Amino acid sequence: MKLKFCSLYSGSSGNCQLIKTDNTTILVDAGLSGKKIQQEIINIGEDPKKIDAIFVTHEHMDHVQGVGILSRRFDIPVYANEKTWEAMNKTIGDVKSHNIKIITDDVEVGDLFIQAFNISHDAVKPVGYNIYYKNKKISLVTDTGCVSENIIKSISDSDLMLVESNHDEDMVLIGPYPWSLKRRVLGEFGHMSNDTAGDLISKVIKRGTEIVLLGHLSKENNFPELAYKTVENILIQKGIDVNPGICLDMTYRDKSSAIYAV
Ligand SMILES: [Zn+2]
Ligand SMILES: [Zn+2]
Repeated sequence: MKLKFCSLYSGSSGNCQLIKTDNTTILVDAGLSGKKIQQEIINIGEDPKKIDAIFVTHEHMDHVQGVGILSRRFDIPVYANEKTWEAMNKTIGDVKSHNIKIITDDVEVGDLFIQAFNISHDAVKPVGYNIYYKNKKISLVTDTGCVSENIIKSISDSDLMLVESNHDEDMVLIGPYPWSLKRRVLGEFGHMSNDTAGDLISKVIKRGTEIVLLGHLSKENNFPELAYKTVENILIQKGIDVNPGICLDMTYRDKSSAIYAV
C-alpha cells in the first residue's frame, strides 16, 4: 500500500493538498471556495465524503477560505493549533464543536501520523507539516520567509516534498507592488524565493528524496518555467541529477498536479 499525494491547488490565490492511503484521506489547507475544492477532489477520482480531516497551516485566506464550508458539508474534523483557531474562527464560520481539533502534539488520523513544525511567516503561529505512513514521509513547507535549522531538520529524509518557490527576487523588486508589500514578500516573515527554494532543496535532498514539487508560486512575481529552471540549475550546480535523478515537478494555481505515490 502506497502513500499518495496530489496538489489540488497551489499558489498565492489558493492552496489545497490531498494526501491519502487506501484507508485514510486528509487535506492540508482548503484555501479556495468549497465548491472548487469539492469539484477538484471529484476530478481526481476521490470522494469528498471520505475526507477524514483538514489540517490548517495558518489563517491566511489562501489557506482557509473553504475550510468551514467543507467541514460543515461533509462533517470533517479541522485540525489547527490554538492560536490559528483563534485567528481563523471568524473567517471560516461555525464549525461543529466535535470537529474543532486543537493540535498540541503529533496527531494520528487513521493510518497517517501528522507532525507540525514552525515556519517563519506573518501569521499568528504558522506551521508546515510532515505526514508519515509506515516508513514513508511527505513534507509540506510553504509560506516561510526564512529557512531555519529546524525546518531543514524537519523536512530531511522525506520521500516527497512540496516546497514553496514563491517569487523571483528581481521580479519583485522591479514589479508593480508598493514598497511595503515588496518588503513583506522579501522579508523574514514573507515567502521563499526560487533561489532559496533551490538552496533548501539541495541541502535536504541527498538522503533519499525521490520527488520534489515546487508550489505556492506568485502570480505577479514568478513564472512556472522560471521557478523550475532556477531550482533545476541550483541542483545541477550542486551535483544533483534531475529528471533522470530526482523527480522535480510543478504544482499549479488553477488545476491539480499529477498524483504521486511513494
Ligand atoms: Zn500566508
Ligand atoms: Zn499562502
